Amino acid sequence: MIVVFLGPPGVGKGTQARRLCQLLAVPHLSTGDMLRQARGAGTPLGRHVAEFLDQGRLVPDEVVVSVVQQRLRQPDCRTGCLLDGFPRTLVQAQALEEMLAAEGHCIDRVLELTLAEEQLVSRMLQRAQRENRADDTPDTIQRRLDVYREQTAPLVARYAANSLLRTVDGGGTPDEVFARITACVGKGSVG
Ligand code: ADP
Repeated sequence: MIVVFLGPPGVGKGTQARRLCQLLAVPHLSTGDMLRQARGAGTPLGRHVAEFLDQGRLVPDEVVVSVVQQRLRQPDCRTGCLLDGFPRTLVQAQALEEMLAAEGHCIDRVLELTLAEEQLVSRMLQRAQRENRADDTPDTIQRRLDVYREQTAPLVARYAANSLLRTVDGGGTPDEVFARITACVGKGSVG
């Protein structure tokens, strides 16, 4: 079972993705987490991507695609996975489809979480105080929202066209959002 989470920064993808992974018993593949981890560990990949992360710009497609490709080859992904933060561009979406097709797999469901921009900004500013994420500054937040609108939002139409897409209101408490998610991705209704 392969699920893709789409949604702007601050919408709560990470929180909801972790919960859904537990329910579906699949690994959580967050490219943001993987890249931050590499940066924290000071690996060559981490040094290469640090500037992109801090500025709220997308890491080049070929770099992220290769990170995901290696991760998908790990044995725990054999039963599926939840992709959180990937794909983020049309090139990445195409690469993902090719990677999966090569193994005889395909995406089972795409979940788009939505929220008004003012609420996204206020959530990210709150997170900035809590988690001290280097990319949760007002300028970078705005850039990440712009990047989402320009480069990632076009994926919504692609996944709507092949009926994979379900759109979920990201407003309210985490429990309320999760209830909406499970209503459209019940264990029995995916795959
Ligand atoms: P958010 O959704 O809050 O922006 P993420 O943790 O998903 O946070 O991503 C943080 C940063 O990691 C992005 O701003 C970008 O620099 C980088 N990144 C994560 N995933 C990708 C991706 N698929 N392609 C390019 N860059 C990515």
